[in-house]
Amino acid sequence: MAENLSRRSFIQNLGVGIGTTAAAFAIPSIVSIPESKPKYEGRKLGIALVGLGSYAKNQLAVGLEKTTNCYLAGIVTGTPAKAEEWMKKYNIPKKNVYNYQNFDQIADNKDIDIVYVVLPNSMHPEFVIRAAKAGKHVMCEKPMANTVEECQEMIKACKDAGVQLGVGYRMHFEPFTKEVIRMSREKVFGDLRFIQSNFGFRIGDPTQWRLKKAMAGGGPLMDVGIYCVQAARYVTGKEPLAVTAQFGPITDPERFKDVEESVSWQFDFPDAVTVNGFTSYKTNIEQLFITADKGFMHLSPAYSYGPIKGRTSQGDLHLPVVHHQANMLEAICKEFLETKQFPPHISGEEGLKDARILSAIYEAAGNGKKIKLV
Ligand code: NDP
Repeated sequence: MAENLSRRSFIQNLGVGIGTTAAAFAIPSIVSIPESKPKYEGRKLGIALVGLGSYAKNQLAVGLEKTTNCYLAGIVTGTPAKAEEWMKKYNIPKKNVYNYQNFDQIADNKDIDIVYVVLPNSMHPEFVIRAAKAGKHVMCEKPMANTVEECQEMIKACKDAGVQLGVGYRMHFEPFTKEVIRMSREKVFGDLRFIQSNFGFRIGDPTQWRLKKAMAGGGPLMDVGIYCVQAARYVTGKEPLAVTAQFGPITDPERFKDVEESVSWQFDFPDAVTVNGFTSYKTNIEQLFITADKGFMHLSPAYSYGPIKGRTSQGDLHLPVVHHQANMLEAICKEFLETKQFPPHISGEEGLKDARILSAIYEAAGNGKKIKLV
């Protein structure tokens, strides 16, 4: 793949999609959205997307056109031309359009139930906290924030305001992923022994925020390595006990002045399960391989937008292919409409657990020591 392909076109070329959890991971029911299902007559939740970049435009907005119980009700953008374009395209009234300065006025807007923050990572805490103070439920893209402390502040702000906080862990709702989780937890192939989880791609534009530590929090680990961390947690349903890690060589010093080019890590998990992870901004790789006493499970692609493909030692997996973002939003809104809560397995606490682990991987890679996580 050409070096200068953008992340979006890489994902499109792969034909797959990226998102996901953990100890508290209760396997949600598959929410498929067949064309022929009866018309949904219930309440529809209004969602406002904050930051109209590549993920909001090419995935979330597209997904929101496919959902039945929620819709794109508003937008928050710093780019007036995008506001004009989106208002026309999605029939959004001007009163539901905000910029980053007047965003707090969203508090008075009854059309907006959920604010979905899709900004560069460093901006997540500010906008999640402002949304919470405006009394809106909040979805936040991964990684939830660049530091553990920021995650804690975001959780507190949402608790204080009495609003729900969720992280856009879309793999939690994806059928192949859920099947691998089920088979692992039910020990269909016996006790798990080893998990290999890799996710990397060749990053394009050298000026983008993903290569600036102050905005991204780090390199590929923050961006896509988080999927591998998530996978280890949702497959086992357990938390890592300790981690060792190593930064890979810098082969492109101009591009990787500020963040790692790649990093590998090794988790000790309970029950003697070993997990190896690798993430890179210089290598196209995407797989989740799980070996157990009596067989194996393999997803590749495993984390991007789909179709996810899977096989086990018993043969190929045949499962529905879903639009990840539509599938996730439909499931989250269904749960919220029924229980007034977001699914617990995508909560802010889950985002915080990942932030702790990502921070420990950086610490271990930095000092060469094994870092205990419990
Ligand atoms: P983009 O760079 O494509 O878009 C970010 C948008 O944020 C911009 O278009 C802009 O929107 C707004 N923005 C505001 N201030 C800045 C700034 N200083 N620099 C850059 N952008 C700014 O990023 P992505 O859409 O790819 O990623 C956004 C978030 O979504 C990240 O947290 C990322 O990790 C996550 N993500 C999640 C994926 C998933 O599968 N779950 C996949 C891809 C990304 P505007 O012009 O409207 O103000």
